[in-house]
Amino acid sequence: MSWIWPEYVNRELPLTKQERKAILRDAWKLWFANKWNILLYLALPALYLLTVFFASDVGGRLAALVGAGGLINKLFRAGAPVVLFVICFVVGGAVLQRYRFAPCVYRATRRHGYDVCAKCGYWLRGLNDDIKRCPECGCARRLAEGAPANSG
Ligand SMILES: [Zn+2]
Repeated sequence: MSWIWPEYVNRELPLTKQERKAILRDAWKLWFANKWNILLYLALPALYLLTVFFASDVGGRLAALVGAGGLINKLFRAGAPVVLFVICFVVGGAVLQRYRFAPCVYRATRRHGYDVCAKCGYWLRGLNDDIKRCPECGCARRLAEGAPANSG
């Protein structure tokens, strides 16, 4: 499942297995600290449970709308709950993972001393301090967390 639920730990970083685990553990701690995350992740199964009972009817109506009857209609009715499942859990999960979990991983990675972009996780290794934007995604570069504030 890592293709759809990646860990978002930058693979270029020279991490030991323990460090990698520690970063993920810290990322989950950051994730849990924001109650919105839990609410959003719970919203996925809730959305599924609230709508799955109507999915077949909607599928049947869609089939009727395009003028398909008989077997196609049955396929639409049978397939609709599957499509709903994929949208709620696979697509929805991947989106939440990307926008809610990945930033926690990047923050945790930064706390472990690796200067990765807070937005996309790109490793900003060896870049001059006067480079103010991530070369990968273009978002503003932040100082490493925990580092002494820049006097300039
Ligand atoms: Zn970036």
